[in-house]
Amino acid sequence: MQSSRPAIGLDVGGTKIAGAVVDETGAVLTELVEPTPEESDAESVTAVLLDMIERLRAEHDVVAIGVGAAGIVEWPIGTMLWAPNNAYRDWPVREQLEKSTNLPVVVDNDANVAALAEARLGEPFPNMMLVTVGTGIGGGLVMNGDIYRGPTGMGAELGHIILNPDGPRCGCGNHGCFEAYASGTALTRMGRDAAADDPDGVIARLGAGEVTGHTVVQAVQQGDETATALFARLGRWLGVGIASLANIFEVDAVVVGGGLVETGELLLAPARAAAREFAYAPTARGITPIVPATFGGDAGKIGAALLALDHID
Ligand SMILES: [Zn+2]
Repeated sequence: MQSSRPAIGLDVGGTKIAGAVVDETGAVLTELVEPTPEESDAESVTAVLLDMIERLRAEHDVVAIGVGAAGIVEWPIGTMLWAPNNAYRDWPVREQLEKSTNLPVVVDNDANVAALAEARLGEPFPNMMLVTVGTGIGGGLVMNGDIYRGPTGMGAELGHIILNPDGPRCGCGNHGCFEAYASGTALTRMGRDAAADDPDGVIARLGAGEVTGHTVVQAVQQGDETATALFARLGRWLGVGIASLANIFEVDAVVVGGGLVETGELLLAPARAAAREFAYAPTARGITPIVPATFGGDAGKIGAALLALDHID
């Protein structure tokens, strides 16, 4: 049942926690952001969430709270079991927040809720896949308008399909995951390698001993050919992963979100080319469109609030 009263949406990422009060149309009424505490454990993150909820409730009368958090969330019980880039483990998020706030709470994976916002509020895509390219690669799958989670919430980990078993180590502990090849972390690794190979190059000079993915983006903006080639490689891997996923799922579109999509065609053009190259039976199945996300960094908190409004009884 939907309510005319708004809900709070919270999006817990590796570097920041975004919060907002959102109505049933997806409009953001108030928003705020806090850094993710360095410890990133259950206790410290809960404290930040409760503080943000209190501040948001002071401004609006809300009916529910939705949380999207990076990691593996048991659904519908709302326990955060494990996360690749944050320290929280076996964290009963839903139970703790319901007890402290007396409001109904839903908790889901951050990419799942972002996918819900993109599927419902963007150009409507009832069947879609969201691939977020940030520090890691998040994935969300919406089928017939609903989030696909698998029986207990552990499905659709799109970022950890294996592209090469002998590939670079991933944040999850495996080797050669999609995330290890096509994320911001991968761009950082490629940038560091390039700086080591060419200490006088633009990437090395801009990075001044601490090259990150952001350094590579800056180097591209200055027209550096090495950095542009790294982006083409990153985009190609992105397209390879997307092609494999699009071969499995029949979707209306693949929506690419996350911080790196702000680089636009630099990333998307090579991704589309590779996705075409590796598409299965394209003459029969067609080519799945790859489009940039509509809501960018706002999708998580908006989708979390929409999910909370869906689950009020
Ligand atoms: Zn992995």
